[in-house]
Amino acid sequence: ALPVIYAVTPTYARDVQKAELTRLCNTFRQVPAFHWIVVEDARARTDLVARFLARAGLRHTHLHAATLLRYKRPRSPRGTEQRNAALHWLRANRSRNDSGVVFFADDDNTYSLELFEEMRWTRHVSVWPVGLVGGRRYERPLVENGMVVGWYTGWGAGRLFPIDMAGFAVNLQVVLANPKALFKRHGSKPGMQESDFLRQITRVRDLEPKANNCTRVLVWHTRTEKVKLTNEPDPLLDSVTIEV
Ligand code: UDP
Ligand code: MN
Repeated sequence: ALPVIYAVTPTYARDVQKAELTRLCNTFRQVPAFHWIVVEDARARTDLVARFLARAGLRHTHLHAATLLRYKRPRSPRGTEQRNAALHWLRANRSRNDSGVVFFADDDNTYSLELFEEMRWTRHVSVWPVGLVGGRRYERPLVENGMVVGWYTGWGAGRLFPIDMAGFAVNLQVVLANPKALFKRHGSKPGMQESDFLRQITRVRDLEPKANNCTRVLVWHTRTEKVKLTNEPDPLLDSVTIEV
Protein backbone atom coordinates (compact mmCIF):
# COMPACT_ATOMS: atom_id res chain seq x y z
CA ALA A 1 0.00 0.00 0.00
CA LEU A 2 1.11 3.58 -0.58
CA PRO A 3 2.39 5.48 2.47
CA VAL A 4 -0.31 7.96 3.50
CA ILE A 5 0.49 11.65 3.16
CA TYR A 6 -0.67 13.50 6.29
CA ALA A 7 -0.95 17.17 5.36
CA VAL A 8 -1.23 19.44 8.40
CA THR A 9 -3.01 22.73 7.71
CA PRO A 10 -3.39 25.42 10.36
CA THR A 11 -6.25 27.75 9.44
CA TYR A 12 -8.02 30.71 10.99
CA ALA A 13 -11.28 32.54 10.45
CA ARG A 14 -11.13 35.44 7.99
CA ASP A 15 -12.99 36.57 4.88
CA VAL A 16 -10.88 34.47 2.49
CA GLN A 17 -10.77 31.30 4.62
CA LYS A 18 -13.30 29.20 2.72
CA ALA A 19 -11.84 30.27 -0.62
CA GLU A 20 -8.37 29.23 0.54
CA LEU A 21 -9.60 25.88 1.83
CA THR A 22 -11.46 25.30 -1.43
CA ARG A 23 -8.30 25.88 -3.49
CA LEU A 24 -6.38 23.49 -1.26
CA CYS A 25 -9.07 20.85 -1.29
CA ASN A 26 -9.27 20.88 -5.08
CA THR A 27 -5.58 20.03 -5.18
CA PHE A 28 -5.53 17.53 -2.32
CA ARG A 29 -8.54 15.58 -3.61
CA GLN A 30 -6.44 14.51 -6.56
CA VAL A 31 -3.71 12.97 -4.42
CA PRO A 32 -4.09 9.25 -3.63
CA ALA A 33 -3.62 7.98 -0.05
CA PHE A 34 -4.03 11.42 1.43
CA HIS A 35 -5.21 12.45 4.90
CA TRP A 36 -5.87 16.12 5.60
CA ILE A 37 -5.40 17.27 9.20
CA VAL A 38 -7.07 20.66 9.45
CA VAL A 39 -6.37 22.51 12.70
CA GLU A 40 -8.40 25.60 13.38
CA ASP A 41 -6.87 28.44 15.32
CA ALA A 42 -9.95 28.76 17.50
CA ARG A 43 -11.30 27.82 20.95
CA ALA A 44 -13.60 25.30 19.29
CA ARG A 45 -14.14 23.78 15.87
CA THR A 46 -16.35 26.02 13.75
CA ASP A 47 -19.43 24.97 11.81
CA LEU A 48 -18.07 26.62 8.69
CA VAL A 49 -15.00 24.38 8.58
CA ALA A 50 -16.91 21.29 9.75
CA ARG A 51 -19.48 21.72 6.97
CA PHE A 52 -16.73 22.41 4.47
CA LEU A 53 -14.83 19.24 5.38
CA ALA A 54 -17.98 17.12 5.30
CA ARG A 55 -18.33 18.01 1.61
CA ALA A 56 -14.65 18.08 0.76
CA GLY A 57 -14.48 14.49 -0.44
CA LEU A 58 -11.25 13.53 1.24
CA ARG A 59 -10.11 11.73 4.34
CA HIS A 60 -9.68 14.30 7.06
CA THR A 61 -9.32 15.01 10.77
CA HIS A 62 -10.71 18.25 12.16
CA LEU A 63 -8.92 19.66 15.21
CA HIS A 64 -8.61 23.00 16.93
CA ALA A 65 -6.01 24.79 19.05
CA ALA A 66 -6.23 28.44 19.94
CA THR A 67 -3.19 30.71 19.68
CA LEU A 68 -2.79 32.70 22.89
CA LEU A 69 -3.71 36.34 22.44
CA ARG A 70 -0.18 37.44 23.36
CA TYR A 71 1.18 35.56 20.35
CA LYS A 72 -1.26 37.21 17.94
CA ARG A 73 1.31 39.87 17.09
CA PRO A 74 2.57 40.84 13.64
CA ARG A 75 6.09 39.38 14.02
CA SER A 76 5.03 36.32 16.00
CA PRO A 77 5.22 32.88 14.33
CA ARG A 78 1.86 31.64 13.08
CA GLY A 79 0.42 28.15 13.16
CA THR A 80 2.64 26.90 16.00
CA GLU A 81 0.02 25.53 18.42
CA GLN A 82 -1.99 24.16 15.50
CA ARG A 83 0.91 22.13 14.06
CA ASN A 84 1.69 20.83 17.54
CA ALA A 85 -1.94 19.74 18.00
CA ALA A 86 -1.61 17.70 14.80
CA LEU A 87 1.64 16.12 16.04
CA HIS A 88 -0.14 15.14 19.28
CA TRP A 89 -3.00 13.64 17.29
CA LEU A 90 -0.64 11.58 15.13
CA ARG A 91 1.22 10.29 18.18
CA ALA A 92 -2.04 9.31 19.87
CA ASN A 93 -3.70 7.77 16.82
CA ARG A 94 -0.97 6.24 14.69
CA SER A 95 1.52 3.49 15.49
CA ARG A 96 4.48 1.44 14.30
CA ASN A 97 2.21 -0.33 11.84
CA ASP A 98 1.24 2.80 9.93
CA SER A 99 3.34 3.97 7.01
CA GLY A 100 3.11 7.63 6.16
CA VAL A 101 4.74 11.00 5.72
CA VAL A 102 3.91 14.26 7.49
CA PHE A 103 3.89 17.56 5.61
CA PHE A 104 3.00 21.04 6.89
CA ALA A 105 0.72 22.64 4.32
CA ASP A 106 -0.25 26.24 5.11
CA ASP A 107 -3.65 27.22 3.74
CA ASP A 108 -2.43 29.98 1.41
CA ASN A 109 0.42 28.23 -0.43
CA THR A 110 0.23 26.68 -3.91
CA TYR A 111 0.99 22.98 -4.31
CA SER A 112 1.89 21.06 -7.46
CA LEU A 113 0.52 17.51 -7.59
CA GLU A 114 4.03 16.30 -8.39
CA LEU A 115 5.20 17.50 -4.98
CA PHE A 116 3.22 14.79 -3.22
CA GLU A 117 4.73 11.97 -5.23
CA GLU A 118 8.18 13.39 -4.51
CA MET A 119 7.60 13.35 -0.75
CA ARG A 120 5.63 10.11 -0.50
CA TRP A 121 8.62 7.76 -0.15
CA THR A 122 10.48 9.91 2.37
CA ARG A 123 12.45 7.51 4.57
CA HIS A 124 13.51 10.03 7.18
CA VAL A 125 13.28 13.74 6.34
CA SER A 126 13.14 15.01 2.76
CA VAL A 127 13.70 18.52 1.42
CA TRP A 128 13.12 20.47 -1.83
CA PRO A 129 12.99 24.06 -3.16
CA VAL A 130 10.20 26.52 -2.32
CA GLY A 131 9.22 29.29 -4.72
CA LEU A 132 8.48 32.94 -3.90
CA VAL A 133 9.93 32.96 -0.40
CA GLY A 134 12.64 34.68 1.63
CA GLY A 135 12.56 37.72 -0.60
CA ARG A 136 13.72 35.61 -3.53
CA ARG A 137 12.18 33.85 -6.50
CA TYR A 138 13.01 30.65 -4.69
CA GLU A 139 15.08 29.12 -1.92
CA ARG A 140 16.62 25.68 -2.13
CA PRO A 141 18.99 23.22 -0.50
CA LEU A 142 22.30 22.88 -2.38
CA VAL A 143 23.02 19.26 -3.27
CA GLU A 144 26.27 17.46 -4.07
CA ASN A 145 26.49 13.72 -4.64
CA GLY A 146 22.95 13.29 -3.37
CA MET A 147 23.62 15.10 -0.09
CA VAL A 148 22.62 18.54 1.17
CA VAL A 149 25.84 20.56 1.46
CA GLY A 150 24.45 24.09 1.85
CA TRP A 151 21.54 26.40 1.26
CA TYR A 152 20.53 29.08 -1.21
CA THR A 153 18.44 31.41 0.97
CA GLY A 154 17.53 35.05 1.13
CA TRP A 155 18.08 35.55 4.85
CA GLY A 156 18.93 33.89 8.14
CA ALA A 157 21.77 31.80 6.78
CA GLY A 158 22.85 31.30 10.40
CA ARG A 159 19.96 28.89 10.88
CA LEU A 160 20.96 25.23 10.94
CA PHE A 161 18.04 24.39 8.60
CA PRO A 162 17.26 27.60 6.68
CA ILE A 163 14.14 26.24 5.02
CA ASP A 164 10.47 27.19 4.78
CA MET A 165 7.70 25.08 6.33
CA ALA A 166 6.63 24.04 2.82
CA GLY A 167 10.11 22.76 1.98
CA PHE A 168 10.28 19.48 3.91
CA ALA A 169 8.40 16.33 4.89
CA VAL A 170 8.98 13.87 7.73
CA ASN A 171 8.38 10.14 7.79
CA LEU A 172 5.54 9.33 10.19
CA GLN A 173 7.77 6.90 12.11
CA VAL A 174 10.27 9.71 12.74
CA VAL A 175 7.45 11.80 14.23
CA LEU A 176 6.48 8.86 16.45
CA ALA A 177 10.06 8.00 17.42
CA ASN A 178 10.70 11.57 18.63
CA PRO A 179 7.65 12.06 20.85
CA LYS A 180 8.91 15.31 22.34
CA ALA A 181 9.71 17.06 19.06
CA LEU A 182 7.41 20.07 18.74
CA PHE A 183 7.32 23.56 17.28
CA LYS A 184 8.65 26.01 19.83
CA ARG A 185 7.91 29.64 20.43
CA HIS A 186 11.43 30.40 21.71
CA GLY A 187 10.80 34.05 22.48
CA SER A 188 8.77 34.02 19.28
CA LYS A 189 11.51 34.66 16.76
CA PRO A 190 9.81 34.38 13.39
CA GLY A 191 11.60 32.18 10.93
CA MET A 192 13.18 29.85 13.50
CA GLN A 193 10.21 27.47 13.67
CA GLU A 194 11.36 25.13 10.93
CA SER A 195 14.99 25.02 12.01
CA ASP A 196 14.14 24.50 15.68
CA PHE A 197 11.79 21.66 14.80
CA LEU A 198 14.10 19.91 12.35
CA ARG A 199 17.12 19.97 14.65
CA GLN A 200 15.10 17.91 17.15
CA ILE A 201 14.60 15.08 14.69
CA THR A 202 17.40 15.01 12.10
CA ARG A 203 20.85 16.10 10.94
CA VAL A 204 21.70 18.00 7.77
CA ARG A 205 23.72 15.06 6.42
CA ASP A 206 20.67 12.78 6.70
CA LEU A 207 18.34 14.98 4.61
CA GLU A 208 16.96 13.38 1.44
CA PRO A 209 16.93 15.82 -1.49
CA LYS A 210 13.84 15.55 -3.72
CA ALA A 211 12.64 17.33 -6.88
CA ASN A 212 15.59 16.36 -9.07
CA ASN A 213 18.30 17.13 -6.52
CA CYS A 214 16.42 20.25 -5.43
CA THR A 215 16.41 21.87 -8.87
CA ARG A 216 12.63 22.04 -9.40
CA VAL A 217 10.10 24.31 -7.69
CA LEU A 218 6.92 22.31 -6.94
CA VAL A 219 5.48 24.46 -4.15
CA TRP A 220 5.08 28.23 -3.88
CA HIS A 221 4.84 30.35 -0.75
CA THR A 222 2.03 32.45 -2.19
CA ARG A 223 0.17 34.85 0.08
CA THR A 224 -3.36 36.08 -0.33
CA GLU A 225 -4.14 39.77 -0.26
CA LYS A 226 -6.42 40.87 2.53
CA VAL A 227 -9.81 41.48 0.94
CA LYS A 228 -11.31 44.97 1.12
CA LEU A 229 -15.01 44.90 1.97
CA THR A 230 -15.56 48.63 1.81
CA ASN A 231 -18.96 48.33 0.16
CA GLU A 232 -20.60 46.11 2.75
CA PRO A 233 -23.92 47.67 3.71
CA ASP A 234 -24.44 48.41 7.37
CA PRO A 235 -26.67 46.91 8.61
CA LEU A 236 -26.65 43.99 6.20
CA LEU A 237 -29.29 44.69 3.55
CA ASP A 238 -29.74 41.25 2.03
CA SER A 239 -32.76 39.24 3.10
CA VAL A 240 -30.85 35.98 3.62
CA THR A 241 -27.68 35.08 5.46
CA ILE A 242 -25.12 33.60 3.12
CA GLU A 243 -21.88 31.87 4.09
CA VAL A 244 -18.92 33.02 2.02
N1 UDP B 1 -2.56 30.97 10.84
C1 UDP B 1 -3.27 30.66 12.00
N2 UDP B 1 -3.56 31.68 12.89
C2 UDP B 1 -3.20 32.98 12.67
C3 UDP B 1 -2.48 33.28 11.49
C4 UDP B 1 -2.17 32.25 10.60
O1 UDP B 1 -3.62 29.51 12.23
O2 UDP B 1 -3.50 33.86 13.51
C5 UDP B 1 -2.25 29.89 9.89
C6 UDP B 1 -2.51 30.26 8.44
O3 UDP B 1 -3.85 29.95 8.08
C7 UDP B 1 -1.48 29.43 7.69
C8 UDP B 1 -0.33 29.32 8.70
O4 UDP B 1 -0.88 29.61 9.97
O5 UDP B 1 -1.96 28.14 7.37
C9 UDP B 1 0.80 30.30 8.40
O6 UDP B 1 0.27 31.62 8.42
P1 UDP B 1 0.51 32.65 7.21
O7 UDP B 1 0.21 31.97 5.93
O8 UDP B 1 -0.22 33.92 7.51
O9 UDP B 1 2.09 32.88 7.36
P2 UDP B 1 3.15 33.33 6.28
O10 UDP B 1 2.52 33.33 4.92
O11 UDP B 1 3.55 34.71 6.71
O12 UDP B 1 4.25 32.35 6.40
MN1 MN C 1 1.28 31.88 4.18
